[in-house]
This record gives sequence, C-alpha cells and structure tokens, in this order.
Amino acid sequence: MSKFASKPDHLGDRTRLVHAGRDPSEQHGFVNTPIYRGSTVLYPTTDDLLHRRGRYSYGTKGTPTTESLENAWTELTGAAGTVLAPSGLAAVTVALMSCLKAGDHLLMTDSVYRPTRIFCDGMLRKFGVETTYYDPEVGAGIEALIRPNTTVVFTEAPGSQSFEMQDIPAIAEVAHRHGAVVVMDNTWATPLLFPPHERGVDIAIEAGTKYLSGGSDLLLGLVSANERCYKALRDTYDAFAMCPGPEDVFLGLRGLRTMALRLREHEKQALDMARWLADRPEVAQVLHPALETFPGHEIWKRDFKGSSGLFSIILKPCSDRALAAMLDGLGLFGMGYSWGGFESLVIPFDCATYRTATKWSPGGHALRFHIGLEDLDDLKRDLDAGFARLRETDAKAA
Ligand SMILES: *Cc1c(COP(=O)(O)O)cnc(C)c1O
Repeated sequence: MSKFASKPDHLGDRTRLVHAGRDPSEQHGFVNTPIYRGSTVLYPTTDDLLHRRGRYSYGTKGTPTTESLENAWTELTGAAGTVLAPSGLAAVTVALMSCLKAGDHLLMTDSVYRPTRIFCDGMLRKFGVETTYYDPEVGAGIEALIRPNTTVVFTEAPGSQSFEMQDIPAIAEVAHRHGAVVVMDNTWATPLLFPPHERGVDIAIEAGTKYLSGGSDLLLGLVSANERCYKALRDTYDAFAMCPGPEDVFLGLRGLRTMALRLREHEKQALDMARWLADRPEVAQVLHPALETFPGHEIWKRDFKGSSGLFSIILKPCSDRALAAMLDGLGLFGMGYSWGGFESLVIPFDCATYRTATKWSPGGHALRFHIGLEDLDDLKRDLDAGFARLRETDAKAA
C-alpha cells in the first residue's frame, strides 16, 4: 500500500480538499490525477470482456479523472456517492429524474434557480410529474402541502436572487416522516459552509461552475447522495450518459484544492461590502444572511458555517435611467449571470414575473452582487461613483 493511501482519521475540511481523490503512487508520483481522454477501454482477455471485468469499462461510465473528483466530493460531503454532470443545471435534472416517476408530486421552493423551474414546468410536466411551488420560508408548515404521491421536496438556501432562508432540518423531518426524498441545491454555500447530508438532505446539488471552478472558465455539476438515494442516482446518470468533459473535470479538481481559501476571502469581502452598502443612503435593504437585520439570520446562524460572496440589495425608488447610468458606467463590476469566479459582478433582477407561491414587490430596483477578490477600496470607489451617477440622473430629470 502506498504512503498516500494511509491518511490519519478525522481530517478537517481543508485537509480533505488538499488530499481527497488523488493518489500520486498511481501516477508515477505526480501530484495531480492527469486528464484521461477516452471512449474505448480495452479488455485483456475474452473472459474479462464478456464479464465486463476491470475497473473501467467505457468512457461514459467514468475515467480515473472523473473518479478522482467523484471520490473527493463524496469524502467532502460525507455522502454514499457522487455523480458529475456537464453543468449545474444538468446536475439538477439528473437529480430530479433519479427520484421522480410519472404520477408523482414534487414540492418545489418558489425561490428556486429559475432554469430549475423551467425544467419542472416543461419537461417534468410532460412526463407526468406535477409540481407545486411553496413559500421558501414555510418550514415545518410544508406538512400541509404533502400529498400521498409527494415523493420529492426540493430546497435551495438561500433562495436564488432574493435570498430567503429555508429551515432545512425542519423541512427534512416532515418530508422523511411522509417518505419523501429531500433534494437541495447547495450551490451558494458549498459543502464547506453547509454540510447538506448532516442536515437531513438526501441528494445535494452543487454547480461546480461557481466556487469549485472559481475562474468563470468551466461548466460542471456535482450531485452527492446518501445510501437511500445513491443507486438510483448512479443508474439515472448511466441512463443519460451525463458525463462532463475531462478537461472541465481536471479544472474542477484544480479548483477544489484552493476552494476553502477563496471562499473565505469572498466571504470576508462580501460581508464588508454588504455592511458598506447597508449604510448608503441610496440603499433600502441588504439581503445577506449573515447580517443581523436579515429575516432568516437566526436559521443561517444555526445551520451554516459561513457565508459566500453572493448577496442582493434593494435600492430606494429611482428611475430605470438612473439605474442604467449607475450600472453602465461601472469600471470594475462586470454584468453577467454566472458567478463564483475571482471577479466582481452585478446584475439587476426582478422575480415578480415568475414567482407563483409568493409575491415579490420590494418597492425598488433589486441588484445582485458577487464580490470578487479585487481590492475592496477600488470596488467601493467604483460603486460610489455609480451611486453619484444614479443621483445626478434623477436630480436632472426632476
Ligand atoms: C449557476 C447555478 C446553477 C446552474 O449551474 P450551471 O453550471 O450554470 O448550469 C444551478 N443552481 C444555482 C443555485 C446556480 O447558481
């Protein structure tokens, strides 16, 4: 046995991130698992081929590269197993397909990532699964919505764009009592800040595109499942051949090693920025779970180990033109949707047109920020000038 195969017990998360899923003794001492590209896997004998004997059997089923990331993620999350997917959305869909069948009823949080919603309303509906959206803050009250055919309760915390906090342990207790599976999109926190399976989640999804990558340069999804759900998840993955490309998996592994470090810096920067924004006269409200003023703060404090770089704000009423003047002139904040990279981002958003179980009417324009790794003073100066443009635009019009 190699020296690398005998690790001490009870490793912390940071140690796991560094060591999990790689064995240098298997690759001539080189530190990282290399990129295996391949479709064909050769069998040494007829007997081996007929019995599909061997560690690998076909490119879609896995390679040493994909297995490396799967194993690392399984170790990090404490799951029974992990499957990868070519994007975060693909991870959501393979997770849902693994635990739903025609005639089933799905409870879906109203604050879910919007493309997940589109998948439910289109694809799942087409295959005979009915979706009911629920108020993300329902907690144990979810019980009133459970039907005899409710097989899945899907959660996401905090909510996409609007940051509602969900009481995951309370929801999981009710769901499990009724035999339903709990699925969670854990992209915001990652397993480092919210250990999903310890909190009652059966299947947890991570868009590796975000903090695993940390570079805005790849698309990847990960789904971890406990004993109850892993076999069905693996079978569904195999049925769809939901395999990501080997280069993206390699980059995911590279990102994994530094994820804790980057997350901690995003957390620190975003918290500082959230507090700075809360004091601005142009800002009505800051939606950041770690702020004491945030409605779901107590749940966050109880269940989460930290916060990441993404949060939203509500502006005091201003014109569309004033908002555009602010955003269009920003020199350091990019405007784009996929976050989790080293760069700061801002987007305007409006949930009013598509939410159905809750009403979104914040009383002003809403902005979502991702705070990157730049110097905070530079970011603040950029925003300060932006707020000045916003005020001047409306002052001129008045
Ligand atoms: C980005 C994101 C996804 C989808 O990830 P992609 O890789 O972009 O498909 C899913 N859920 C959440 C919460 C996300 O932020």
